[in-house]
Amino acid sequence: MAPPPTSEVDCLIVGAGPAGLMAATWMSRCGIKTRIVDKRGTKVFNGQADGLQCRTLEIFDSFDFAHRAWRESNHMLEICLWNPNDQGVIRRSDRIPDTIPGISRFQQVVLHQGRIERFFLDSIKEHSNIQVERGVLPERLEFDASKAEDEDAYPITVTLRHLTDEEATPHQDLSSTATNQALNGSAPQNGMFRSNLAADDTDDLIRKARAEAGSTEIVKAKYMIGCDGAHSWTRRQIGFKMEGEQTDYIWGVLDIIPITNFPDIRMRCAIHSANSGSVMVIPRENKLVRLYIQITTTEKDGNPVERAKIGPQMILKSAQKIMHPYHLTYEYCDWWTAYQIGQRVGSNFSLHERVFLAGDAVHTHSPKAGQGMNVSMQDTFNLGWKIASVLNKICTRSILQTYQSERRRIAQDLIAFDHRFSRLFSGRPAKDIMDEEGISMEEFKSAFEKGNMFASGIAVDYGASVIVAKAGDLAEQGDGTAAESPGRDDKNRVVGKQDLAGDIKIGMRMPSFQVLNQADARPSQFQELLKSNGRWRVVVFAGDLRDPEQWARFTSLGEALAQPSTLFSRCNARAGPNSVIEVLTIHSAPRTAIELLDLPEIFHPFSEREGWDYWKVFVDDVSYHEGHGHAYQNYGVDPTRGCLVVLRPDQYVSWIGELEDVGEMERFFGRFMRVSAA
Ligand code: FAD
Repeated sequence: MAPPPTSEVDCLIVGAGPAGLMAATWMSRCGIKTRIVDKRGTKVFNGQADGLQCRTLEIFDSFDFAHRAWRESNHMLEICLWNPNDQGVIRRSDRIPDTIPGISRFQQVVLHQGRIERFFLDSIKEHSNIQVERGVLPERLEFDASKAEDEDAYPITVTLRHLTDEEATPHQDLSSTATNQALNGSAPQNGMFRSNLAADDTDDLIRKARAEAGSTEIVKAKYMIGCDGAHSWTRRQIGFKMEGEQTDYIWGVLDIIPITNFPDIRMRCAIHSANSGSVMVIPRENKLVRLYIQITTTEKDGNPVERAKIGPQMILKSAQKIMHPYHLTYEYCDWWTAYQIGQRVGSNFSLHERVFLAGDAVHTHSPKAGQGMNVSMQDTFNLGWKIASVLNKICTRSILQTYQSERRRIAQDLIAFDHRFSRLFSGRPAKDIMDEEGISMEEFKSAFEKGNMFASGIAVDYGASVIVAKAGDLAEQGDGTAAESPGRDDKNRVVGKQDLAGDIKIGMRMPSFQVLNQADARPSQFQELLKSNGRWRVVVFAGDLRDPEQWARFTSLGEALAQPSTLFSRCNARAGPNSVIEVLTIHSAPRTAIELLDLPEIFHPFSEREGWDYWKVFVDDVSYHEGHGHAYQNYGVDPTRGCLVVLRPDQYVSWIGELEDVGEMERFFGRFMRVSAA
């Protein structure tokens, strides 16, 4: 028999759920030779995750498809808290904003995972020839650790098996049709085949496909990302464990068009009944409403709940009890599922910074705060550009260690948050202040409010590392060593000057305020200029350019940056101005007091083909139609003297300094940027 064909690829992604697709999107923007495979024959079409947090929408916007999600989704603006009164009857006890006002230009929205996967697929297709290869299952992984540090090596060898259509189509679990039928008699789509209450079928598929001798191929890869969900095959191959525990809760999820007299059915609601448990109501797109019910794994008699009993009718009946005296029923059920929650984090997120794990493959938790899909996508949003920069020989491999140091901590925080919140959500409301076993509804509200900040994704604050120049302990990796390498010796460390921009926090994402284009007066949100294309950015807060002293500082900065010997120039030398490190300027003088072409060329470069670049200089001034963004004030930057801010390709703030601190900025970049000879 002829040996299977062998090919090489720079990045192999296993799993085309939200995490895998986000990784592929980065690769499509950064020109990386990539393959992405998924054992399923089709994408998700309905149900599953639905919440999009505001940071996720900012990220989508950086890839130019937030508008699609924003338009199609249901916008969640208010949370209503319902609790029992003295007679044990539920009543609305409070209202809080769903997204904390002012933290982002987006608010939380809901739209099912299938649409979100569609936006990714369209975007990947528009920018590359990467295509999800469906019905393809990895069945063997070999890793040659001796080649891990050789940049040009392919240390990963994966055998891929191509499945038949039948094998790639998941078996719909209709085993308990009698109890699971929707009210109208039809069996609705269910997500049980993806649920952890159903056994994982990966090993069966491999066995079956081997027996049928389906075609195989061998792929050699430089990097691999396992985005293959909670049962992760990749994780098992590299021997990493999930740490934490399985909870005693099963979550029942029901997507219906409700027929009800409950007044807040189009609001997000947390309803605690006196004695019948709690339900979370999530109003969705297309008139749908999602109900989340937490079911204990054991019946009152101590026996385990029979899996076959869990179905749409059971979930509905629980909701009816909780929402009594209001009525609730439905004619149309779109989807339902049930799954058991483990609160777990992966012991390691990468093997030699060559094979990475992301998304559900390294963290699982409850769906209450709508975090699963968001945190999973944000994992690979963090990782994708790093791998691409190393493959494109822009950065050294040292930056890859920050994936684990940055994202594992987020996963741990998420589990801790989920733990706290679960207890408050599932507990019985306290009857009065003497009722110590009951849950205080004030505590629940306060946790909800605090949780909202965490859940928004805006609060992410990465620790000090080679690419986050801030004071404090260097972020730890899973193995207990500091993430920064090379240069674990502190004397080489670069620390930015945080006090120059009080509201641009080193380690956090760059906030957004309106600025005007100097050349055409058009207003934009500053974040809109920070597209995800793999570029680093130096943001020059040029201050008041009418002031001669400030003008001198600014022109000196221009001269310093333009020196061919600088690392900045050498990085950009291979593909032209702004290709690796882009310079964006925001000044604070009145727009009409400044002429763009008087500014040094480095701030608005000239090309023979396209003339001046008019999209690099901005001003903090009033617009004709959209008011004033007050960017300097909001960013906490001195409007006279300004400052320099370095942003990573994922919009997180790396370093802050004075206009004169070019040498220090060069030292910062010098620790991980690769440059050609001067
Ligand atoms: P997944 O979305 O699980 O994607 C993994 C992908 O890898 C899948 O496409 C799978 O086919 C593929 N794959 C798996 N194994 C292999 C293999 N061996 N080879 C090749 N491909 C493989 N979150 C919420 O926020 N709200 C919810 O209501 C909600 N409901 C959920 C219901 C269910 C039944 C499940 C399973 C999850 C739910 N989640 C929910 C969680 C949310 O869907 C996940 O957190 C999110 O999808 C994680 O994205 P991911 O890309 O990491 O993994």
